[in-house]
Amino acid sequence: MLNVKKIKADFPILRRRVNEKPLVYLDNAATSQRPLAVLAAMREFDLNHNANVHRGLHTLSEEASQLYESARQTVAEFIGARSDELVFTRNTTEAINLVAWTWGMAHIKAGDEILTTIMEHHSNFLPWQQLALAHHAKLQVVNITPDGRLDMKDFAKKLNRKTKLVAVNHMSNALGTINPVAAIVKLAKKVKAAVMVDAAQSVPHFPVDVSKLGVDFLAFSGHKMLSPLGIGGLYIKKERQTETGPFLTGGGMISEVYADQPAIWAKGVEKWEAGTPNISGAIGLAAAVKYLQKLGMANVRQHEQELTEYGLKQLSRVKGLRLLGPSDSRIRGGVLTFVFDKYHAHDVAQVLDSEGVAVRSGHHCTMPLHQCLGLVSTNRASVYIYNDTSDIDRLVEALDKVKQVLG
Ligand code: PMP
Repeated sequence: MLNVKKIKADFPILRRRVNEKPLVYLDNAATSQRPLAVLAAMREFDLNHNANVHRGLHTLSEEASQLYESARQTVAEFIGARSDELVFTRNTTEAINLVAWTWGMAHIKAGDEILTTIMEHHSNFLPWQQLALAHHAKLQVVNITPDGRLDMKDFAKKLNRKTKLVAVNHMSNALGTINPVAAIVKLAKKVKAAVMVDAAQSVPHFPVDVSKLGVDFLAFSGHKMLSPLGIGGLYIKKERQTETGPFLTGGGMISEVYADQPAIWAKGVEKWEAGTPNISGAIGLAAAVKYLQKLGMANVRQHEQELTEYGLKQLSRVKGLRLLGPSDSRIRGGVLTFVFDKYHAHDVAQVLDSEGVAVRSGHHCTMPLHQCLGLVSTNRASVYIYNDTSDIDRLVEALDKVKQVLG
């Protein structure tokens, strides 16, 4: 079990008061907070080692390069990858676009199909929709069951020999559903389709091992896992790397450049890291990984599963509140999305904020899902390692206030 009191002490921002009430931060699916250890690692880099990587032979540059590459090793191991399979990106969105405009451009042809799902974040939907439009390919969209799971019968029906890529999220940021990625990979392999996993909501919350899952590409964002903004990761399986051309071109991603003939790209992951990278961000991400490893990802998952169960129970008792997503906490992460009576989600969020409770309102970048559910906007409370049952209790109390204020 996690010692939440001890963990909370590592996050000074959680001692803040908002609207004269102690802050209850339940917007972790959007972005998480950063512990002192992460801030300290970045500060240490800025104070003592700041220089550009890979290009200098002076001491600071060598130290910066060593720290950057050691961060890559730490983050790669965290997801079961080798360091020569992990590309640093800005975030999940950039990572998925990288795959779409490199591997996707080369391998998706007219008449091919891309299979995605109705529960994708726009970041794992729009790049594929755009690519399909540009290449006259077909975007197939898998439905969900009434209880918010991926409809695997529909998946099997829509997967076929024309499917060249399956693009699916590991955990839905709107429904909380944890999708059966290993089973999906097995099915995809039968038709020789590649698999792109949006792991923005899984890597921060439960153990993820790319080699066990057998995926080809997997993307995640640092800021949802205790790290700074502007750093994320993309796993590209070694076997897919030669099939994947460069994304941005420029400094740092080449082996040789000539005035009169095509350049030769770098052999390793640098090929996809043009320009000066976010060095201190990568160092911060590695520090966050170490923080999570100390807690143990299985413990993180257990804590969040218990909190989710508690949240589902308490929220289902609130009159007029309807929860979305599966009720089985074994296939659900710590995202509690709901519709509250006749109230508009933005009004609900505003009243909750007046009580110091931070939740999200809107479509959570899942407009196709909301359309499919006949909804325009919803509220979403999402938990992390520093939340406990008292935070859920404060949410439930604040919902009472919503009724009083909005009538
Ligand atoms: N996919 C999922 C499932 C997400 O939850 C998010 C963030 N809300 C993203 C993609 C996009 O992440 P980012 O904005 O960090 O690129």
